[in-house]
Amino acid sequence: MSAEPGSGPVLVLNAGSSSLKYQLLDPAGGDVRAKGTVERIGEEGSGVADHHAAVEQMSAALADAGVDLATAGVRAVGHRVVHGGPDFSDPVVVDDDVVARIEALSPLAPLHNPGAVAGIEAARAQLDVPHVAVFDTAFFATLPPAASTYALPRALSERYRIRRYGMHGTSHRYVSRAVPALVGRPLEELDQVVLHLGNGCSASAVHHGRAVDTSMGLTPLQGLVMGTRSGDVDPGLHSYLHREAGLSVEEIDDLLNKQSGLKGLSGVNDFRQLQEHRAAGDEAAALAFDVYVHRLKHYLGAYLVQLGRLDVLTFTAGVGENNAALRAAVVEGLGGLGLAVDPGRNASPSREARVISPDGAPVTVAVVPTNEELEIARQTVALLDGTEG
Ligand code: ADP
Repeated sequence: MSAEPGSGPVLVLNAGSSSLKYQLLDPAGGDVRAKGTVERIGEEGSGVADHHAAVEQMSAALADAGVDLATAGVRAVGHRVVHGGPDFSDPVVVDDDVVARIEALSPLAPLHNPGAVAGIEAARAQLDVPHVAVFDTAFFATLPPAASTYALPRALSERYRIRRYGMHGTSHRYVSRAVPALVGRPLEELDQVVLHLGNGCSASAVHHGRAVDTSMGLTPLQGLVMGTRSGDVDPGLHSYLHREAGLSVEEIDDLLNKQSGLKGLSGVNDFRQLQEHRAAGDEAAALAFDVYVHRLKHYLGAYLVQLGRLDVLTFTAGVGENNAALRAAVVEGLGGLGLAVDPGRNASPSREARVISPDGAPVTVAVVPTNEELEIARQTVALLDGTEG
């Protein structure tokens, strides 16, 4: 495989425990040459025994799509890694030591980091180009201590590396850096709130390009209501459930991560289905929607005050990009704070970044489709070129 400095597509890999998402794209223009997902890794009867087999299957699928990885001039592989812990606040070129350090962070992200490590190892064994790890937590390494510190005994937090790390950072960074071009003002002047609303959901406050607060914490469970995750609950809930319902730590973990959120409240985790049920008069779906919006307003209000002002509120990811009713509900009643959407702009479907607030509104409300793969590809190339991503 030839690596021509400064050119060539980047292969972006997002490896989980049982899936490998891949995208081959041009880091400059963002053109996607090929993409796909290998699923059911390690499952019986799937034919994909492990991550090595998954990388082989990816290569075969790319060949079917007319891309021979050996001759495509792939510049580098960029790997999405969910948790960088306290060690990684920037992308890093992968070597054996980096792999060992990512693996050592697995207790902080048991559902995510082991899959990433397996994907990195398999890809390194088969693709002889530079490999770069890009961390979902990195954008939030700049959080001020007052925002990142839990009120726990300090020695305990230090020993167990407990702090607010935040996740979805690649998306929050991409979106907050796409906003200046949309609104015609420099990043260094803007106070922003970004709402990433997909299956997982998170909010961030971004001051002049730097993240200063975010809703996810030590783990991706904290903060907003999500598809199947509860987000914020009373920390006393855990011991209450243990004592009163006899649930174990594992059962409580499963309950809050997989059986809660929109699914727990309404029976469905997909926002489109939730909307259908709500429109059909389903009271549980209506309450789920209201709880989801209430929590969003809670964080929006908090960040407005943390920032002291707000220039742009941006919605992104599956729900944020596509659900006009949800966007309208979030800003409803906030006209006095300068927040409103233009009903026509908000309702018109589009795949493009767009402003949905009325002209001249004190706060610009925007929709920016996220593109985590492009952000990873850009950061990968920026690291290799020694430039800022
Ligand atoms: P992930 O976090 O897995 O990347 P996505 O960003 O794709 O998730 O978001 C998934 C959520 O987005 C689901 O709740 C889905 O219902 C919602 N969604 C996706 N497309 C649409 C759409 N066209 N209209 C409304 N909701 C959508």
